[in-house]
Amino acid sequence: MTETEERNEIAVVGAGLAGCLLACFLARRGYPVALYERRPDPRTGTVERGRSINLALSERGLDALRRIGLDEQVLADGLPMRGRMIHPVDGEAQFQSYSASGDRAINSISRGALNNALLDAATSLPGVRVAFDHRLVGLDATSGEMTFETPQGTVAAAASVVLGADGAGSAVRGQLLAYGLLTESVDFLDYGYKELTIPPLDGEFALDPQALHIWPRGTSMMIALPNPDRSFTCTLFWPTHGTASFASLGSPAAIERHFAEHYPDLPPLAPGLVDDYQHNPVGVLGTVRCTPWQAYGKVGLLGDAAHAIVPFYGQGANCAFEDVVELDRCLDECADDWSEALPLFQQRRQENAEAIAQMALANFVEMRDKVASPLFQAGRKVEHALERLLPGRYVSRYELVSFSTTPYAQVRRRVRRQHRMLGAVAAGAAALLAGAVGLTISRGRRR
Ligand SMILES: Cc1cc2nc3c(=O)[nH]c(=O)nc-3n(C[C@H](O)[C@H](O)[C@H](O)COP(=O)(O)OP(=O)(O)OC[C@H]3O[C@@H](n4cnc5c(N)ncnc54)[C@H](O)[C@@H]3O)c2cc1C
Repeated sequence: MTETEERNEIAVVGAGLAGCLLACFLARRGYPVALYERRPDPRTGTVERGRSINLALSERGLDALRRIGLDEQVLADGLPMRGRMIHPVDGEAQFQSYSASGDRAINSISRGALNNALLDAATSLPGVRVAFDHRLVGLDATSGEMTFETPQGTVAAAASVVLGADGAGSAVRGQLLAYGLLTESVDFLDYGYKELTIPPLDGEFALDPQALHIWPRGTSMMIALPNPDRSFTCTLFWPTHGTASFASLGSPAAIERHFAEHYPDLPPLAPGLVDDYQHNPVGVLGTVRCTPWQAYGKVGLLGDAAHAIVPFYGQGANCAFEDVVELDRCLDECADDWSEALPLFQQRRQENAEAIAQMALANFVEMRDKVASPLFQAGRKVEHALERLLPGRYVSRYELVSFSTTPYAQVRRRVRRQHRMLGAVAAGAAALLAGAVGLTISRGRRR
């Protein structure tokens, strides 16, 4: 490749979920694309231990995949989860449907298989090349010149536009920050996460595979999603420090005691529990905010690099995929003028990213503390009844977030309106009831 050809390319830094999808969309527009990825080719190597193995893919992600004809292939290996299965400390697990009809599902997908399918799709398109083992360490935002660390040493490259799809710890964002071209805040949660495995039991799923399993424990929480090999990957969320935290369990006996007390149905299903607990890393969780998301109309950020969120709504990847669709739309509307398209993209997406960031934080409290309460469960039943009674007019937040592509900020506004309306209806009903009771009492007195 000549230097001029390389300078005409669009560089996408990060061949993760958003980067690979973006390469597909850009190649469809006729751009030559260079995907730079710090890791080796995942299709030939081994998967890192303890990195989120599966994720929940819902309508927003599927909508993006549909546009490049990849939805059916990805769903073929997915497992539909139609609701939450709540595991109390004592007693039977209870199922809560995600939708009023009971038939809508989010899909448990292997992160690795999804990434590989997207990589295959990108590399099968003319004009896309991938440079693995290339870690971006330097970027000149005015010229598009980049520096990479590779096993062969430092390598220089250049591109007409550089797009950072390099995840929550984005090096592209770091470079813009270092040159004073953006400001950022990273709010880490006091909670971390650790993955544990429930293997198949006699060749079958050990739990119901049509549900996302939740063990709500107030100060901690565990979830489990099914995998195509009939295992479940559990993710334990717990504070990173303190007397009841990941730091507080040292010995195998202490680990066994803790799970027997707080998650009693898990140890019989997870023979490798202690080993998993001792060897799998504790991942950090946080919300990344930064602004602007672009510099000079030449460098842009998207996906987790621009707006990483906590995983409690299962929306980070879905939102990153939606970014790609929106950037493509902006390029359409701006006739591929990047200096207009990148600011427009930020203008359209930033409030939506902020809305899902806040809903994801709020959902942590809901999953950890509320889902097990009878009041919450009654509320969900009322909500589903309203959805059936007022189809299309009352739609729950979960339904709008997971089963529609309504922009996240609009979801928040609509849900607030619905709650106000419900409050007014409830107040009116209470006043009517009070009036009726008053009338009955005064009639009784007159008699
Ligand atoms: C525990 C957990 C559970 C989750 N569950 C869900 C879920 O159920 N549903 C959902 O939608 N989302 C979920 N998410 C969020 C989701 O994983 C992310 O939002 C999504 O992966 C973001 O995609 P991305 O492409 O922006 O970043 P990433 O997937 O992080 O990809 C970034 C890529 O950039 C590469 N890279 C990094 N630095 C460099 C560099 N300097 N040079 C070159 N390459 C680089 C990385 O190796 C990686 O390949 C979860 C996250 C966590 C932590």
